[in-house]
Amino acid sequence: MVNKELIMLPGPTNVPERVLYAMIQPMISHRGAEFHKIYSEIEDNLKYVFQTENDVFVLSSSGTGGVECVVSNLVNRGEKVIVPIFGVFSKRLAEAVRRRGGIPVEVDLPLGTTPKSHHIKEVVEREADAKAVFIVYNETSTGVVVRELPDIVKIAKEKNMLTVVDAVSALGGDKLPVDEWEVDICMAGSQKCLACPPGLSMISVKQNAWEKIEKTENKPFYFDLTLMREYAAKKETPFTPAIPLFYALNEALKMMREEGLERSIERHKRCAEAFYSAIEAYGMTIYPKEKETRSNTVIAVNIPEKVDDSLVRRIMQDKYKVVIGGGMDKLKGKIFRIGNMGKVTLAEVVMTLSALGNALKDVGCHVNIEAGLEAAIKVFDH
Ligand code: PLP
Repeated sequence: MVNKELIMLPGPTNVPERVLYAMIQPMISHRGAEFHKIYSEIEDNLKYVFQTENDVFVLSSSGTGGVECVVSNLVNRGEKVIVPIFGVFSKRLAEAVRRRGGIPVEVDLPLGTTPKSHHIKEVVEREADAKAVFIVYNETSTGVVVRELPDIVKIAKEKNMLTVVDAVSALGGDKLPVDEWEVDICMAGSQKCLACPPGLSMISVKQNAWEKIEKTENKPFYFDLTLMREYAAKKETPFTPAIPLFYALNEALKMMREEGLERSIERHKRCAEAFYSAIEAYGMTIYPKEKETRSNTVIAVNIPEKVDDSLVRRIMQDKYKVVIGGGMDKLKGKIFRIGNMGKVTLAEVVMTLSALGNALKDVGCHVNIEAGLEAAIKVFDH
């Protein structure tokens, strides 16, 4: 099974053969011993990746399902939740709260920047009756990561507020020690840094979050976390799980364990550094405003003036067989987004850079390809 294209999207990513083949197995009973074993292995390895002793769950839904599940298990009608807004996914988080009947206290920040602890401190003090801070750790739409997350969690905790972290595009690819940072609830997705196919979301829940969840009124039926906890005791899910995806996740997590989480995070970081150095050597600019908040998993690059975004990406895909993402919402046509997730190495970095440089050249925008590739390779030389 050979990939016909190199998928460098901010999810889904290229899936290793081992994980793809793991899905081609007969169906089993999700109430039998074989499934219990798979469930236990996934649970153990997920705790390893989340770096937590908290309860962990796998939902047969994409990342948004995980977000919706947490919101609807935690937020009561009329309750306030603080949500820093700095891109599409943080806006969606606020929308999920609103649809549930909660009141998102939106902290608007310029696109390309991240919330800092002082922003949150000010809002947390002003909105002392808010229940939680809901925050996207890695904003996939702008290519930034909230480096001050540990301080933000502390600030929320001082006011007895929970911290709920959307780490869909970061888990396994950037630092996120859930227990050390005392994150109360964390959500992730299968199709990003774990290099698994799309369709599963994962959630970790800390004890003090359970105390709030248990008191939530009108909990959802399909996404009831307390029911999931009940079934987890038997190593089962309340409803029929997406069994082939569970096979895949089990294999992907085993691969993560074989490599080691630290090494995986380090590899993502190094590939990101290579991308950033090369893009700058190309004479192009990086979208995030502050260097220290550039994401290690999503590389957001400003599109040079007069360059047609969709044409470049079409040439990259058709001629050079590399697929990258474009901008979302207000950033449509303004940035390229390269997914630096999953099993990325220098080889994928160089192929992507070369495809991008050559496609730009094909549309008459000359970049210094040689200098860019040299800069990328240099990052791996030390
Ligand atoms: N949150 C973040 C930060 C994401 O990047 C994404 C997907 O890209 C989601 C949530 C939603 O995940 P999905 O598209 O799997 O529903």
